[in-house]
Amino acid sequence: MRIGIIGLLHESNTFLAKPTELVDFESVSLAFGSEIQSQFSGSHHELGGFLDGLEELSHSVTDTIEIVPIFVARALPSGTVSATCWNRLLDLMLAQLELAGALDGLLLAPHGATVSEEYPDADGHWLEKVREKVGPKIPLIATCDPHANLSARMVAACDAILAYRTNPHLDQRQRGLQAAELLVLTIRGEITPCMQAIFPPMAISIDRQMNEEWPLSELCRAADEQLENPDLLTNSIILGFPYADVPEMGSAVIAVTNKNVSLAKGYAEDLANKMWSLRHDFVAYLVSIEDALDQCRPLREPVCLLDMGDNVGGGSSADGTLLARELDRLNEFVAFVCLYDPQVVNEAEAIGTGHIATFSVGGKTDDLHGDPLTAEFEIISFHEGRFREAEVRHGGFAEFDQGKTVVLKTKTALTVMVTSRRMVPFSLQQISSCDLDPASFQILVAKGVNAPIAAYREVCPHFIRVNTSGSTCADMTQLDFAHRRHPLFPFEPESDWGG
Ligand SMILES: [Zn+2]
Repeated sequence: MRIGIIGLLHESNTFLAKPTELVDFESVSLAFGSEIQSQFSGSHHELGGFLDGLEELSHSVTDTIEIVPIFVARALPSGTVSATCWNRLLDLMLAQLELAGALDGLLLAPHGATVSEEYPDADGHWLEKVREKVGPKIPLIATCDPHANLSARMVAACDAILAYRTNPHLDQRQRGLQAAELLVLTIRGEITPCMQAIFPPMAISIDRQMNEEWPLSELCRAADEQLENPDLLTNSIILGFPYADVPEMGSAVIAVTNKNVSLAKGYAEDLANKMWSLRHDFVAYLVSIEDALDQCRPLREPVCLLDMGDNVGGGSSADGTLLARELDRLNEFVAFVCLYDPQVVNEAEAIGTGHIATFSVGGKTDDLHGDPLTAEFEIISFHEGRFREAEVRHGGFAEFDQGKTVVLKTKTALTVMVTSRRMVPFSLQQISSCDLDPASFQILVAKGVNAPIAAYREVCPHFIRVNTSGSTCADMTQLDFAHRRHPLFPFEPESDWGG
């Protein structure tokens, strides 16, 4: 039994001007063959689940399983993938697939929200290419991020798709293990996955996408309850990624049964109807900067302010200053903000630790996230910017590299960590590895919406999602869409849908 593994993961924010290029993949992950095992075996990522799941199954089934890692590319969330980059990635992937020889099945890891300049449904495009290459009979089982904008082409290309069931995403490895098991059972002829997807015409606001909070908690409960039926192999809730101007933008559900189309359709319909009935509770709940800081005043324990307009995990610039400037101006909280600004790191390095100097930090990538924060800072310390996270955190990664980093402090008790690479706030090691105690701050700004919570809840009992402006602004109705579906709730709030 020869089983191939391919991953191509990118969340593309089409509202960003700068395209994503090959170098953005090379600097995070572009791996072939055994490099894939060394990068992902044992990890919390779904690719770790694929590899380790197959390894484990090879001891429990009579067939010999040969794991054939083929191709993996991953970049940080950023702009639309350039045509050149996309064609190169596909060429590399398909050449490696050719080299892999005959396969009995493939495990695939698309993100589900990838957009390239030529192929807006980029995941549908690459999954179709793999399907064309291996033919209709070889089973293809894929995992995906619930922040996918699922397309009919993705569904048509695969035998089954399983989305992570948590946000923050903490079950990526489990989904990888589950996909491996389903694939092996399929190859052995013990099951024949039958997948149905339904696309209710609605988009769920990013701030309503935390699975422990109402109303998603209710929808997840319904999905989990369905799984108690042994005739359902798996089901998924696709939340959607609002920052992609594509026809697929929005939410969906998936159900997979063993051979039974009408049963799969029934489960998917029940879940889709439930999602639709909750649509009014899935709209954005918006708190201004001023109101958020008002809410912080009576709180005695650390508060995490989630900077939704500069959501790095949604592709944003990581140098938005709106909260930093307000905290500096108020001079009232012991606060922490991390900003991406390689120029300031270099300037500070030329001056050295212990000195005081004026810097203009952040606000340089675009004009969407506030002007630079110009202030006098004490240069506290320099760091290499590499850190390791041992716990299961959103994204499933353990190794991080934010590049050379400087810690600056204003006279107003605002600590600004300045990085030379954009970094997602998914680990408190980011702060503690730079000799700072996260629990010592009254306010910690994290540039995200839900993902940072997995790490930050260790020190912050309070979270406030702040409606800052920017390329990931929480109110999707403010974004200028040209290609989305019509009608689509909440853009057309009176939209009707028959289920
Ligand atoms: Zn996601």
